[in-house]
Formats: sequence, structure tokens, C-alpha cells
Amino acid sequence: MSDNEFDVIFIGGGPGGYAGAIRAAQLGLKTMLIDDRKGEDGKPAPGGTCLNVGCIPSKALLDSSKHFHHIQHDYTAHGINTEGVSIDIDKMLERKRKVVKQLTGGLVQLFKANKIEFVNGRGKLFSERQVEVSPNDGDKYTATAKDVVLAAGSVPFSIPNVEVDNEYILDNVGALEISEVPERFGVIGAGVIGLEMGSVWSRLGAEAVLFEALDDFLPAIDRDMAKVAQREFKKQKLDIRMGCKVSGAEVSDGKVKLSYSDGKEDHEEVFDRLLVAVGRKAATDNLVADDSGVELTERGKIKVDGHCRTSADKIWAIGDLVRGPMLAHKASEEGIAVAESIAGQAGHINLETVPWVIYTDPEIAWVGKTEAQLEEEGIEYRTGAFPFAATGRGLAMGNATGQVKILADAETDELLGCQIVGSYASEFIGEVVVAMEFNGSAEDLARIVHAHPTLSEAVHEAALAVDKRAIHKAN
Ligand code: FAD
Ligand code: NAD
Repeated sequence: MSDNEFDVIFIGGGPGGYAGAIRAAQLGLKTMLIDDRKGEDGKPAPGGTCLNVGCIPSKALLDSSKHFHHIQHDYTAHGINTEGVSIDIDKMLERKRKVVKQLTGGLVQLFKANKIEFVNGRGKLFSERQVEVSPNDGDKYTATAKDVVLAAGSVPFSIPNVEVDNEYILDNVGALEISEVPERFGVIGAGVIGLEMGSVWSRLGAEAVLFEALDDFLPAIDRDMAKVAQREFKKQKLDIRMGCKVSGAEVSDGKVKLSYSDGKEDHEEVFDRLLVAVGRKAATDNLVADDSGVELTERGKIKVDGHCRTSADKIWAIGDLVRGPMLAHKASEEGIAVAESIAGQAGHINLETVPWVIYTDPEIAWVGKTEAQLEEEGIEYRTGAFPFAATGRGLAMGNATGQVKILADAETDELLGCQIVGSYASEFIGEVVVAMEFNGSAEDLARIVHAHPTLSEAVHEAALAVDKRAIHKAN
């Protein structure tokens, strides 16, 4: 093989591309990974949206702001006097940048250790698995591979008459770099990003107002669970307005004027910063040449089968570019599965058991089907729910908000879904994912010994409640 011939080339170094490239190299494949992202210092910053402007920096800010909020609002109940607490936003942002840099720098080392040919630049696919490589520092050249994996991720959707400048009108990138607490923080879209970033700036003192086009809050979860979450956000003074149609936003004199209709009347409101978080689309611009043979779906995603094979021979696509949830762990598992398939192994990912987490406080986590989906599919089911307020640990921690709900097949008792609103929901949704992967039943979960006192006892009790035999609540 010549220097520019590879077994596999990955285009895009987010969680999908980089995890896939590492797995391919582990399996002995000569691997190239091309990623265009640079850090503020001009150095390569692989890791994609997730590490640079998504999962990790948003969680860093969520954690900092959560500490600040708890110190101010919850510590006195523990007898801790916290007068005079303040927040240094510059330091908070610096910490976030350090976390990101540590992770992106760590990846570059991992690529070296795995002997991956890593290029910081752009890749474009042409016919016959030829890839035009345009390094950020250097001249264009062509590399070829037996297999090519497209992993270019996603970019934010825009809406008409609302132009993102990332100074006053922000997307996810600007929302992670606000240098002082805005007095009024507007958000278009009460989805995952809206709720997470709205929480960050609200906890730090902004008046946060979220404008959501739909009438139903968080349609991906059951109405009773959505209500639990919505009630908590209301207590935290997140002002979430449903059924609002935004018609435009204008910047003047350092303020943003937002125009919207609530279905009855037209309104205008002024904000210091406005975040646009109305979903994301596949980043297909300038990724594949017309003769590449790669087809798109009607919704602009790359068309793939259950194994991430595109319509072109030996061209694969993964992560946010393709169907399924736009989540980092889903992208990574697809990258790994594709690398294994290319190496002749049985790569596999089960999209039915991909867990979701929204990192608000309380966190919202879920896996599998909702009641609405089961009803639509005509599947008979039973449910069991259990509140954290009935767990000893929740009360002892002063952290007893929310509940666990489990859905199981009415006849076979097989686990069909689980939704959790509560602290650390992100951690114990994993227990249910494992049980579902093994086709477990609610009874299986109910028979497993859970440590006491833990919040995870609520999962145990919810599983018992499916059969109306929870111990610490009336059935
Ligand atoms: P990406 O991470 O988008 O990576 C693709 C990379 O390819 C990018 O660096 C891009 O610049 C590069 N690229 C694109 N085109 C080319 C090209 N032609 N040549 C070279 N390079 C190219 N998911 C979670 O699971 N948990 C979370 O907590 C979470 N939080 C999020 C918070 C925010 C604010 C956002 C915006 C997203 C969040 N996500 C979260 C979603 C998650 O970031 C994505 O699902 C995930 O990053 C998708 O991975 P990917 O590998 O498909 O693409
Ligand atoms: P989203 O799909 O979660 O939410 C967008 C919201 O905007 C929806 O509720 C939608 O109804 C609403 N909307 C759309 N157009 C609108 C309009 N014109 N006016 C008002 N509301 C409008 O999308 P997002 O919050 O932008 O996040 C994008 C994706 O990134 C998520 O779907 C998720 O896949 C990923 N993400 C994941 C996490 C996580 O896992 N914790 C965190 C952030 C982002």
C-alpha cells in the first residue's frame, strides 16, 4: 500500500469518527482520520461538536452553575451559612475551556498511540473511494481507501428572520461563551439545548424565557413525567412558554428585540442575549461530490441501512449524519460497529435501547417506548412508578424531587421502557438499559438486590410497583 492508500478513511473526528477510527486501528486496519476543527490556540481540536461545543462544555457549565445555585438555595437547610457567595464568570469559562482542551489534546495522543494517520483539515468524498484531503496547513492531495466512513456530524438549524451573530443572537457555540450574566436570556426552542442552556444562565441569575412552538412540553416522554419536570422548572423560575411562533429578531443598541405570536396575539420582548436552539441538521455541505453515489433522505440526512451502509459501495455513514437520535454515545457505538463490520466482524448497534439524558436539575433520562408509542402500536402494558421522596437517601440528601416510571409488557412482563426525572437519573438509567438489552422483565429488576440507602432503590420499587407490590408506597 502506498502512503496515500488506506484500509479505511474516516471523514469527521467527532465521537462517531474518532471512536470508529480507534477501533479500526485496534483491529489492524491502516486508518486515516480527517477532522477540520481547530482550537482557539490554532491547534487541532478533534472530538467534534460533543467535545468542543456540545456535551462536554455544556456539562461543565451546568455543573458550575448547579454548584452556585445549590450553595445559594439549598445549603442553609443543611445548616451551612453561605452569605456573600459570588460567581466569577471568567473563571467558570476558563475551567470549561481547560476541560475541553484536556480532552481534545488527549485524543491527539490516542491517535498517535494507535498509529492513526490524523489530518487536521477537510475531507471530501469523490467516486471510487477517493478522498480529497485539504489540510488546514498544507496543500490538497488525494487519498484512497478500501472503505470510507462519513462522520461529519451536524450543524444547527436556523429560522427565518433570526440571524445568528454569536454576539447577541447565539447558537450553541455562542451560548457557551457568554462572558457576563445577561439580565434577560431568551431562548427559541424548549428542547434539549434550550432547557440545558436556559438552566445554566437562569441559575447564574438571568431571567430566562423559553419560547416553544409546540403545545406539548417534551413530547418524547410521557405526559405525567413531563408534568413533573415542568413543575420543577417553574419552581426554578424557568419561564417556558408553549405554542409560541417566532416571526423575527433584531439587534439594536446591544439588545435583541424578539417578535412572536402566542397564537392569540403578536408580542415583542427585549433580551440581552437570545439563543436559537430549534434542532440540528446533518452537515452534508461540501462533504460528497455529485459522482460519489451517496444518496440523501428527504430530510437531508445520509441514507443508510441498519448497518450504516450508504447507497454507494463500501461507503458508510454514522452519527448525526444519519437516522436515529443525535447523541454522542449513539454516534460512537455506530463508529465502532462500522469499524468491526469493515474488519469482517459482526458490528451491531441496537437503536431501540439508546438512552437519552437531559442534564437539567432534576435530570431527565429515558429509554425505550413511551405510553403513547405503546398505545399507537397496540401493545398492552403495565406501569409502575415510584417517587424519590419515598426513598430514605433522597430525603437524607435533601434531593427527593421526581420519580421513576417503568413500562412492561402486560402479558410477558418484558421491560419496554423507563423514564426517570430526578438527580443522577443519567447514572441509573444504565441499569434499565442493561436489563432491556438482556430482554429482562420488570420482575428481573424487582428481584435484584439494590444497595440501601440509594436513589437507585426508586428503580427497584418502580419495578415492584409494576406488579403492585412496591414496599414503601401504597399500591
Ligand atoms: P460531530 O460531533 O458533529 O463531529 C463531526 C466533526 O466532523 C466535527 O468536528 C466537524 O467539524 C467535522 N467535519 C465536518 N465535515 C467535515 C469534513 N468535510 N472534513 C473534515 N471534518 C469535517 N449528545 C449526548 O449524547 N450527550 C450530551 O450531553 C450532548 N450535549 C450536547 C450539547 C450541545 C450544546 C450540542 C450542540 C450537542 C450535544 N449533544 C449531546 C449531541 C452530540 O454532540 C452529537 O450527537 C455528537 O457530537 C455527534 O457526533 P458525530 O461524530 O456524529 O458528529
Ligand atoms: P431539540 O430537537 O431537542 O429541540 C428543539 C425544540 O425547538 C423543539 O422542542 C422544537 O419543537 C422547537 N422548535 C423548532 N422550531 C421552532 C421555532 N421556530 N420556534 C420555537 N420553537 C421551535 O433540538 P436542540 O435543543 O436544538 O438540540 C439538538 C440536538 O442536539 C438534540 O435533539 C439532541 O439530539 C442533541 N443534544 C443532546 C443533549 C443531551 O443529550 N443532553 C444536549 C443538547 C443537545
